[in-house]
Amino acid sequence: MKKERIRKLNNKTAQKGPVLYWMDRDRRAHDNWALVAAINTAKEYQESLHVLYVIPDEFLNANTRTYTFMLDGLKETAETLIDRNIHFHLILGEPTEKIPEFIKDHQIKNLFTDFTPLRLPRSWRDKLSKDLDIAFFEVDTRNIIPCWVTSEKEEYAARTIRPKIHKLIDDYLDPLPNLMTYDYNSNVSTEIFKTQEILEKLPLQEIPVVESITPGEKAAKRRLRYFLDNQVKDYDDLRNDPNEDVLSDLSPYLHYGQISSQYITQKAREHKAIHPHLENTIDAFIEELVVRRELTDNYCFYNPNYDNFKGFKEWAQKTLNDHRDDKRDYIYTYEQFEKAETHDELWNAAQIQMLREGKMHGYMRMYWCKKILEWTESPEKAQEIAIKLNDTYELDGRDPNGYVGVAWSIGGVHDRAWTEREVYGKIRYMNYNGAKRKFDVKAYSEKYGKYEKQKLI
Ligand code: FAD
Repeated sequence: MKKERIRKLNNKTAQKGPVLYWMDRDRRAHDNWALVAAINTAKEYQESLHVLYVIPDEFLNANTRTYTFMLDGLKETAETLIDRNIHFHLILGEPTEKIPEFIKDHQIKNLFTDFTPLRLPRSWRDKLSKDLDIAFFEVDTRNIIPCWVTSEKEEYAARTIRPKIHKLIDDYLDPLPNLMTYDYNSNVSTEIFKTQEILEKLPLQEIPVVESITPGEKAAKRRLRYFLDNQVKDYDDLRNDPNEDVLSDLSPYLHYGQISSQYITQKAREHKAIHPHLENTIDAFIEELVVRRELTDNYCFYNPNYDNFKGFKEWAQKTLNDHRDDKRDYIYTYEQFEKAETHDELWNAAQIQMLREGKMHGYMRMYWCKKILEWTESPEKAQEIAIKLNDTYELDGRDPNGYVGVAWSIGGVHDRAWTEREVYGKIRYMNYNGAKRKFDVKAYSEKYGKYEKQKLI
């Protein structure tokens, strides 16, 4: 394992004694470098190894939809770990209280966790790194190249991070080890939590569960296999047509860490080697999965204002301020947006797709968010509404991809200035006619327009 994937979060040194992996963002047993690092240390000392997942009381609009997906996937991960003789624990409460308690109870001497750039989970890491008197390590197993290795600063756009990623990627696609039975644990409990019992203990907003996407590591790998065998051939040509079924649908699995982007990239590259005529389309997919996706962690890690107006570049703030008082043709409230009650059937259809399927098509996400800018009283309000809807209803929400997708749409983040117009200023504009030129708008609107909106909220 490449040592640059691990960084120390405090100045304590590793020592002989039990090891804990606090699994947070990357909820998988396989292809997980944070778990590999914890296993290697525990093995070196021939000591016990524990994996702990802590569920905080509240987490960024988390609800029954998102937690059901997360917990059902985590259950499979727990089963795999137990099968490999690794202790798995699930605890409810504040991580900054529960982890020190766990460390004391189990005499843990080395703590590992995975990497996230988001504010709340970073604040947990910061507090723990000050409070704990044992070595605390963080492992980036979300990005193929660790976020701190790719770049030491906020990157300007895909074009600035791309050469850095391309230069390092081959080196970081080192083989992912198989998860073997762990020899130094005894009396591993086989008891596993029940999703429903956990849900009942949490103060969650009730949002209908999405039945059409099966959670978990096995389902994620099945989904990838299906995509490579049947859909990737058309990905590059048809990915901007929401009536076509050519996207990978991997984002919920990636968001919950149920699959590794390194594993996906390795499989996609193997597929390309067998089918060289698919080179362009597979490269287009890898560009989204690696360059675009790793750019979002870069933005959130280096820009503390990743989810508000202050994060936008100076040119974007200026142009949005210049057009702050422009007359809007329509102004909608959060509730009107939520219930898909705008005058635009295409927008409403996209909103209904999200309410119903927990995953709006990628092209429609851009249109959807730009119209929220156009139909609210200020860019700040637009950003707030877009993030809240995205985080509540998308299975892949509460993710750097979401905060950056919204910031790109409303604040031109990672984009450039375009022709100036009302409300948008120099932020890139999208409209109904543009969508009409790309795909059959009527077919998409009719497909989702037929659902009864009341039943979806
Ligand atoms: P595919 O096209 O099959 O792509 C494969 C993977 O590449 C995706 O799963 C994703 O991890 C990555 N990817 C694709 N497009 C992008 C992109 N533009 N930026 C970064 N990574 C990308 N993505 C989320 O994961 N969560 C979100 O909450 C989210 N919210 C968004 C909100 C807005 C307003 C916009 C414009 C985009 C948002 N995206 C979000 C990015 C993108 O639309 C989704 O990642 C994509 O639609 C997911 O579907 P897929 O897995 O089938 O994508």
